[in-house]
Amino acid sequence: MGTQWPRLNLAAGPVEVMPRTLRDAARPVLYHYDPAFLEVFARTSDLLKRVYRTEHDVVIMQGEAILGLEAAAACLISPGDKVLNLVSGVFGKWFQDFIERYGGETVELAVPYDEAIDPDEVRRSLSANPGVKFLSVVHSETPSGTHNPVREIGIVAREFGVLTLVDTVSGLGGELLSPEEWGMDVAVAGPQKCLGGTPGLSLLAVSPAAWAAMEARRPGPLRGSFLSILDWKHAWLEQGRFPYTPSVTEIYALESALEHAIETGMETFAARHQAIARACQVGVRALGLELWPAREEIAASCVTAVKTPPGLDEAELRRLMRHRYGVAISPGYGQLMGKLFRLGHMGPAQVHPTTLAAQLAILERALNDVGHPVPFGAGVGAAMAELDGWDDAA
Ligand SMILES: *Cc1c(COP(=O)(O)O)cnc(C)c1O
Repeated sequence: MGTQWPRLNLAAGPVEVMPRTLRDAARPVLYHYDPAFLEVFARTSDLLKRVYRTEHDVVIMQGEAILGLEAAAACLISPGDKVLNLVSGVFGKWFQDFIERYGGETVELAVPYDEAIDPDEVRRSLSANPGVKFLSVVHSETPSGTHNPVREIGIVAREFGVLTLVDTVSGLGGELLSPEEWGMDVAVAGPQKCLGGTPGLSLLAVSPAAWAAMEARRPGPLRGSFLSILDWKHAWLEQGRFPYTPSVTEIYALESALEHAIETGMETFAARHQAIARACQVGVRALGLELWPAREEIAASCVTAVKTPPGLDEAELRRLMRHRYGVAISPGYGQLMGKLFRLGHMGPAQVHPTTLAAQLAILERALNDVGHPVPFGAGVGAAMAELDGWDDAA
């Protein structure tokens, strides 16, 4: 017999997918130029615009969100361009590799990985570094369970005429955003986080200024490449053609997940993520555990990162949760491995009091099992008290 599957996948993504989306993904695979598929693709793009709350063009790239992030760097950055890279976690630091691979020069503004970027520091940094052309920032740093004030950072970037490139892979759906209001020139999201879709696509929103910058790239616009966002503009947006065969089944799943978000309403969708995240934070603290984020205001709505208490074997804790009780949570990632563990609450299949209660109850059970006694029910009770006012029908 193979390894038993978990009862609850509460990892930091990919997350559990709603039965409805799984059913929709199982529709027959169509030829991509079948009129019915063209209709599905157009409808999915339209739904994505509504989920992003934008009039900017949206592009669905056919690969996991890292593709969209690298594509943004590849299409925008000309050799010698200065890019202000804001680093508050693992993904922020990672982006430097993309900047430099495409010939950019990195100006780094970094804070400790339990902190968030201060927009005033961004202003100081842009004043001190004339000639910065782009700014890159991670909206929701999933590995540290923190989020950055992208809206305020976007305002500063505009003051300096700097284009922004925003990794909102785990932010879209968890917070009510709009590329126009937040000053996002290229936004990149993924279906497999707060939207509760399947992994395998990059969801981009591209401002007119970002398109112009892509056309102006030196030595020439990036075309005829899997990394080319412009290929999608010229083929799909301008002629209703595909640059290559899209991932038909993933598009079905995306359409379904986006449709659910729109039916829920983006305000409610994001508010639910925030309410569950807050309740989870309260529950964790009621167990005498500390949050990883230095301040409550910067805690993300995608995951709750919990500092590993001294003496606790967090790998064993996760192992017991997963193998004894069927609840999969996530470890720290990269340099955060061992320092924290992450309780997941992304996507409509998980953003619910029932799932949160189960997750915290099993956490309590497993903490006791590993010799870190906590009172049974203390975390669950505090979290449920915090959810006063929750209503599925609202
Ligand atoms: C999930 C995620 C990505 C995509 O990375 P993978 O490790 O390939 O899933 C990028 N940025 C952020 C902030 C993410 O949460």
